[in-house]
Amino acid sequence: MKQVGVIGAGLSGLTCARILREAGYAVTVFDKGRGVAGRLSTRRVPASDLQFDHGGQYFTARNPDFRQQVEDWCERGVVALWDGPYVSLDKGNTSPPPGNDPRYVGVPGMNAMVKDLARDLDVQVSLRVSGLNPIGNRWELDLEDLATGEMKRWAQPFDHLVLTIPPAQATQLLPEETPLQKQCREAVLDPCRCLMLGFAESLGLPYGAAFVQNNPLRWIACENSKPGRSSAVECWVLHANPEWSIEHVDQSHEEVVEPLKIAFAEAIGRDLPEIVHVSSHRWLYAIPRNPYSVGSFHDHDRQLTICGDWCHDARIEGAFMSGFTAARQLLATWS
Ligand SMILES: Cc1cc2nc3c(=O)[nH]c(=O)nc-3n(C[C@H](O)[C@H](O)[C@H](O)COP(=O)(O)OP(=O)(O)OC[C@H]3O[C@@H](n4cnc5c(N)ncnc54)[C@H](O)[C@@H]3O)c2cc1C
Repeated sequence: MKQVGVIGAGLSGLTCARILREAGYAVTVFDKGRGVAGRLSTRRVPASDLQFDHGGQYFTARNPDFRQQVEDWCERGVVALWDGPYVSLDKGNTSPPPGNDPRYVGVPGMNAMVKDLARDLDVQVSLRVSGLNPIGNRWELDLEDLATGEMKRWAQPFDHLVLTIPPAQATQLLPEETPLQKQCREAVLDPCRCLMLGFAESLGLPYGAAFVQNNPLRWIACENSKPGRSSAVECWVLHANPEWSIEHVDQSHEEVVEPLKIAFAEAIGRDLPEIVHVSSHRWLYAIPRNPYSVGSFHDHDRQLTICGDWCHDARIEGAFMSGFTAARQLLATWS
């Protein structure tokens, strides 16, 4: 039985891992995070019982294979429709939002879909893959245990590796001579600065989320407007646009909080009430600028595959379809 190592427990990695596992292959997934989900993580603030979906916000489903997965998730309560309401927002003035596809979210957080895919799989977290070593036709992994700081080598060699990590990180792990280096080197993911705010009283806005125009922010969302969330505090997630995020990528938390609060007040056209929670997050590799629209790339000579949203489409559906395509292509090759 082939042993497959998947690096990255985000949506693409776990979609690929699950399909390969269900086809009978032995699969181990590694992630440097403390849990699964990657850019679909949900930030919890246990002391005040707050939660924020600070990465991916919602998704649409157009491809029939993804729709089938979404229907299953809906039936089992893993995802639900999110009605918003959505608007486009320009200095307090609202207009209809772009697009009219149904929008879905994970319940009770955006990480619910990824957690569902991870169930019963061998997923190793808090382990950063720091090196790939070819041993004959197989691969051994060097790992940094982020919980202890210990460096170690995974005992089990793998017949095939699937890398689902950002291309800038993949290029450092992949051998120089693989043609996959070209795709990794040419791919760009823009950063995103994110602010999470909690308000003791409701802002009283007639919308739950807005596509923001002419402002450092490009998106704002009220967590309380999503299905399956309950909090006495009104929680908002704010995402800066790519231009602002690139310009402020190296600034500290303190340096970005005030400008983004001011941008939020300007976008909604009113003063902010008392803030009871503020935190921020810097997504260094957030949104692919030039996704390849091909699904996945394979180096069959070296038993290596790369996938992730940046190989397909810069969205949640794109990440799913990339992992799905990678697994289907591998199964076709191996059969
Ligand atoms: C701020 C933001 C807003 C977004 N909004 C939306 C939206 O509204 N709608 C939408 O459709 N999409 C949105 N997206 C995009 C969506 O979140 C992604 O397309 C999707 O989550 C990508 O999944 P992935 O598996 O390709 O990558 P990731 O989720 O990034 O998974 C890669 C994993 O690899 C791990 N990793 C990296 N290096 C190593 C290493 N050396 N060793 C071990 N593990 C490693 C990481 O920890 C991570 O878990 C947004 C993304 C961001 C950041």
